[in-house]
Amino acid sequence: MTPPLCPKHKKPMTECDGQFGPFFGCPEYPRCDMIAKRRPDGSAGPFSDKPTREWRKQAHEVFDAIWKDGRFTRSEAYAWMGKMMRMHSSKAHIESFDISQCRKLIGLVKMGVGIPPAPAQDGSGHGEPQRN
Ligand SMILES: [Zn+2]
Repeated sequence: MTPPLCPKHKKPMTECDGQFGPFFGCPEYPRCDMIAKRRPDGSAGPFSDKPTREWRKQAHEVFDAIWKDGRFTRSEAYAWMGKMMRMHSSKAHIESFDISQCRKLIGLVKMGVGIPPAPAQDGSGHGEPQRN
């Protein structure tokens, strides 16, 4: 399997092992922080640089909240995302989003279009845990 080329530098990327598993890194690191996940078959997952990774992390946190608090089931949440992002839900994966898609998803969650209201909380209900 030939290594993937860094999308910025068009240079073959090197095999690395990190905290989150195997990945390909740009030979220009640390000047270039482009990485791609290394799959078990040796192929490369979606490329990302650091800003993209930060946006994906933020988008994931915002998105996960809408099913972790019970407004949607996980599969309903992914179906909602696919519909709102105009992507087939099998392709609507944050790990392959670019920054503009992450920003769009965060905006959609914040606007709450098509998302059921947050479950009623005991007490005044701003989603904060109540202490008696
Ligand atoms: Zn590079």
